[in-house]
Amino acid sequence: MTERVVIVGNGMAGARLASELHARGGDRKVTVLGAEPHRAYNRIMLSTLLAGKVGEPDVELAEVAGQGVDLRTGVAVTAIDRAARVVRTADGDRIGYDHLVLATGSRAIVPPLPRLDGDRLPPRVAAFRTLDDCRRILAVARGARSALVLGGGLLGLEAARGLAARGLDVGVVHPVPYLMERQLDPAGAAVLADTLAGLGVTTHLAVAATGLVADADGVTLTLADGRTLAADLLVLSCGVRPDTALAAAAGLAVDRGVLVDDRLRTSDRRISAIGDCAQHDGALTGLVAPAWAQARVVAQVLTGEDPLARYRPRPVVTRLKAAGIDLAAMGEPEGGEAGEELTFADPVRGTYARLRIRDERLTGAILLGDNPAVGTVIQLFDRGQPVPADRRSLLLGRALGAPAAPAASPALMPDAATVCQCNNVSKGALVDCWRSGARTVDAVVAATRAGTGCGGCRDAVAGIVDWLSEVDSVEVTR
Ligand SMILES: Cc1cc2nc3c(=O)[nH]c(=O)nc-3n(C[C@H](O)[C@H](O)[C@H](O)COP(=O)(O)OP(=O)(O)OC[C@H]3O[C@@H](n4cnc5c(N)ncnc54)[C@H](O)[C@@H]3O)c2cc1C
Repeated sequence: MTERVVIVGNGMAGARLASELHARGGDRKVTVLGAEPHRAYNRIMLSTLLAGKVGEPDVELAEVAGQGVDLRTGVAVTAIDRAARVVRTADGDRIGYDHLVLATGSRAIVPPLPRLDGDRLPPRVAAFRTLDDCRRILAVARGARSALVLGGGLLGLEAARGLAARGLDVGVVHPVPYLMERQLDPAGAAVLADTLAGLGVTTHLAVAATGLVADADGVTLTLADGRTLAADLLVLSCGVRPDTALAAAAGLAVDRGVLVDDRLRTSDRRISAIGDCAQHDGALTGLVAPAWAQARVVAQVLTGEDPLARYRPRPVVTRLKAAGIDLAAMGEPEGGEAGEELTFADPVRGTYARLRIRDERLTGAILLGDNPAVGTVIQLFDRGQPVPADRRSLLLGRALGAPAAPAASPALMPDAATVCQCNNVSKGALVDCWRSGARTVDAVVAATRAGTGCGGCRDAVAGIVDWLSEVDSVEVTR
């Protein structure tokens, strides 16, 4: 009998799962129900869209288009009847399932300010989570000269940088004493704030917003220290909350997210949860790489390709997608067991580096500004390999007195080096793909998916393809 798989949510996780299931074939009917009216799009590229580096067609996710999946957009699931194994939709439909996958993602947190109600924000005020949010911001920004961003975390700063690149004066209001406190330390964050100032973004730190007046003419934010800031646009970037309402109403075990085991199964074995809405081993992910890894595990288990597949979290590397700022952060910025701490700061040049090392392994790193060793540091952290005896090569990008390291040549890269963090694609996989006949960057990207997440590795993928096309296939060494 045809197995019916219903996926709730057509975001980054849901769309990927549909594609993974389709790729494995089998007698299965896959239905994707997505509340947003759009086809699936690459949410993480919204920052790049906001900055004007790409257009809307570039953020569409191609993977489920026309691939034998029953995709229904603009359809919200309102309830799950677990006994009858049926989901109900806002348009009154009832759809039966043999296996249900929740991929409902997260929602932007709307701060408790007067006149702010998550469902209907005043004119000139927008959250930053969806394509519609992004369109709304861009529509207001077009005639605007200034903008405020509430929240100095990763996404707030990406939004701020994008708006500044469009010529707006931008102020970021952050209640914590330093920016990106989840990834940075105070010293690194201070260098970042200086870099941002040079790019037209002013930061207001350690101060909460307490009041808001917003109308068709502009917004005025009142701060806890009594100051008022006026602007033409306010972007809310105050964090996200997993969308667990549907799961909770259906009686599934929910904490901050929907609780799942290593197979991504919820407390009901016929229901799985993946992506931002899922909580695995006490942790929420909030990133695309784990969401896609989870989609793969569910596809392997559901199709029987690998019934023993299990989700294993990988180390997380955060990179800021903001023109003119090179920032990579990984591991815990503070705390944890004592070990070596190495720091280099050159605030005038906007450079800061900090390595945290224990038992010869990196437990955390912050690299801000130009540092040629960033790729090496990420690889060492990702793979848990020992650091070199001369730590300066990592901290400064080269040892003192030594010439700068040549840009990492693909020939020198180990086979197992991860090139695409979002899709977990190694250099070896790219070489294999090229050897199996893919001869252009587009062909390699299409076959391996490398570069289809945040896009940060596109140049590296292109470099590897160039290198492969220059050397005779017989000579390719790994
Ligand atoms: C601007 C921005 C930049 C980001 N940058 C990065 C980055 O650089 N790197 C990174 O790893 N991550 C980044 N992220 C986070 C990343 O986008 C998320 O981790 C990822 O989208 C999670 O995928 P998901 O499918 O779980 O959730 P989502 O992509 O949010 O998709 C969930 C979907 O489910 C739908 N839905 C919810 N409830 C229902 C319902 N009841 N019925 C039907 N549909 C429903 C929602 O409408 C939504 O379309 C960024 C996020 C944003 C907003």
